[in-house]
Amino acid sequence: MDTDIAAVPVLRDNYVWMIRRGETAIAIDPGEAEPVRRWLEAHVLRLAGIAVTHHHADHTGGVRALAPLLSPEGVIVTSAEAGIPHGRIGRAGEIVRFPGGVELEVLAVPGHTRDHLAYATADGHLFAGDTLFSIGCGRLFEGTAAEMVASLARLQKRDPATLVYPAHEYTAANLAFALDLEPENDALLRYREEVQALRQRGRPTLPVRLGRERALNPFLRLEDPAIRRVVRARGGPPAHDPVAIFANLRCWKDCFVVRVENR
Ligand SMILES: [Zn+2]
Repeated sequence: MDTDIAAVPVLRDNYVWMIRRGETAIAIDPGEAEPVRRWLEAHVLRLAGIAVTHHHADHTGGVRALAPLLSPEGVIVTSAEAGIPHGRIGRAGEIVRFPGGVELEVLAVPGHTRDHLAYATADGHLFAGDTLFSIGCGRLFEGTAAEMVASLARLQKRDPATLVYPAHEYTAANLAFALDLEPENDALLRYREEVQALRQRGRPTLPVRLGRERALNPFLRLEDPAIRRVVRARGGPPAHDPVAIFANLRCWKDCFVVRVENR
């Protein structure tokens, strides 16, 4: 059966991804409970499970309030440090089965936090939390650049047709940074037009195809001569070390966000 997925916007710019199967739904990263509860009610669906990618409050804040709505055999799967009662900790490589039939493969992707997990369906949907965004990646709050590069590589080698569901609507801000690096990248300019049109209509820019991210996202193009030229031109490392290149991009992005937000 095809997997049917809906976005429930919560907080400032988070999405709770709802995987729907028959009369059941699984909530990924419910940072807030009430919008999820209303969505379940409106669609007359039972909550069969919750999956949490990492311990940050904007991904876990709604779990306690949603837990009583879970169907009797409902499953809560979480990262190691999410601290959720009755949640069980997902192990890399395992397949979690939810009542109603949804199955999620657990992937360990440390970097943004040490405990970060991603979840994937067998039919090509990948819930990336705060690890991979469209045209960006998560900040390094706990992990190292080397861990994040390895985690992104783990996600990146999946089928290019995979649909990626990040937890935040960051695409427009990420494009501003990517176009600051490569102002003449036609594919990025075209993507910006698409993203602007979607946002003007209040629509999510997500999910995104992994193949397109591999072609456009600077954090996935550490071997791309065009990105290496930009890094060298800005005084970054001349070496062919993807981790050093990543660390420079990530550091510039952190500063770039601050500059934009302070404007
Ligand atoms: Zn986070």
